[in-house]
Amino acid sequence: MKVVRSIAELETAPGTGLVPTMGALHEGHRALFRAARGENDRVVASLFVNPAQFEEQADLQAYPRDEARDLELAESEGVDVVFAPSELYPQGFATWVEPEETGAEGESRPGHFRGVATVCLKLFNVVRPERAYFGQKDAQQIAVIRRMVHDLNVPVEIRAVPTVRDADGLALSSRNGRLSPEERERALGLPRALESAVGSPDPVAAARASLNGLAPDYVEVVDLGDATVLAAAVRVGRTRLIDNVLLEGEIR
Ligand code: AMP
Repeated sequence: MKVVRSIAELETAPGTGLVPTMGALHEGHRALFRAARGENDRVVASLFVNPAQFEEQADLQAYPRDEARDLELAESEGVDVVFAPSELYPQGFATWVEPEETGAEGESRPGHFRGVATVCLKLFNVVRPERAYFGQKDAQQIAVIRRMVHDLNVPVEIRAVPTVRDADGLALSSRNGRLSPEERERALGLPRALESAVGSPDPVAAARASLNGLAPDYVEVVDLGDATVLAAAVRVGRTRLIDNVLLEGEIR
């Protein structure tokens, strides 16, 4: 496995699958690497904590980083190249991709999807993948990136990978490590409420009614093209968690 630190050193090749990540890799990322490995001749994983998608400086500072462990995990899944640049934004950077109508997650995190869409377009331009892999856990992110590549004619296929969960149902997230044992127990109310709302005539109302005192930022139905999911964000202590469940269709 090759570790590349700058855009200048990065080589492109046909049949490349890209998995963009911010590091702190877990079983969710592993599922994306496996999906990419199964469908491409060459797999590139990016590791870059993108400052542009954090609205809160404290959240960016607290973001977990463990590159040595990340490289081991990537290598164990047959990743060919890890692109881990120290910087992706040139001096004087002034051009952004500005997604419109990004829905609830976009409203509750102003500027977030601008940062996500911009960094993804930059990664697509430097890696030139045929396919790029994203987790269903960040469902609106998939919707935003699919819209962007359609609107801007970016020649990449966006693939969605189902959410990987702990045995108790909590969606794996780099932020779960910040939960105290008591908070983690309360956090289970999120997947349980979403799951209990599947099949209800009004899933948004049903999920809201069963959140067990967890205050949601939003509960919303998100259209992913081939699938529709019920998505929500809640705060548990100082940690913000998002999750979603499939209502209709197929994740792909
Ligand atoms: P992150 O490193 O958190 O920016 O996530 C990188 C990619 O991994 C994104 O496409 C996420 O949607 C995906 N991802 C994160 N957590 C999970 C999970 N539990 N299951 C599947 N994919 C995930």
